[in-house]
Amino acid sequence: MAGAHAPGEKCVFCDIVARRSPAWIVYEDEKTLAFLDIFPFTRGHLLVVPKRHGARLTDIPFDDQMALIRALDEVCRRCERLTPDYNVALNAGARAGQIVFHVHFHVIPRYGEANPFRASSRVPLAESEARAVVAELSRP
Ligand code: 5GP
Ligand code: ZN
Repeated sequence: MAGAHAPGEKCVFCDIVARRSPAWIVYEDEKTLAFLDIFPFTRGHLLVVPKRHGARLTDIPFDDQMALIRALDEVCRRCERLTPDYNVALNAGARAGQIVFHVHFHVIPRYGEANPFRASSRVPLAESEARAVVAELSRP
């Protein structure tokens, strides 16, 4: 059901939305939140999530989908402060690589690296990098 998960089931992104867990937030509106991925493919790798829980895009109401796309547009514009090149991705389903079952877009800045989409390219988000990226992207 959109807007909820099974009783007792944990959702890391709902915890971030509810501020039960910390995150490096760069953008927020009534229906949407964007924050840094804790295990980025590249510097400034962002996740854009609806505040309402749904496992996939087709699980959330139309209004939330539209708000998510609007927020994605804003986040992409801010991402362009880092680089004009980036990938936007949405993984739907385990076989498509979805690990967190709360719908989200990835916005992944690209700086000319060959192929960052490998587990070996990923390093835990460093606090110094997070601070610098948030400072650059959180202003409107
Ligand atoms: P998926 O494979 O589901 O499309 O991507 C989930 C993403 O969420 C991964 O890139 C992963 O690094 C990120 N992630 C998982 N747990 C957390 C968390 O607690 N905080 C943040 N900021 N990102 C997370
Ligand atoms: Zn959730």
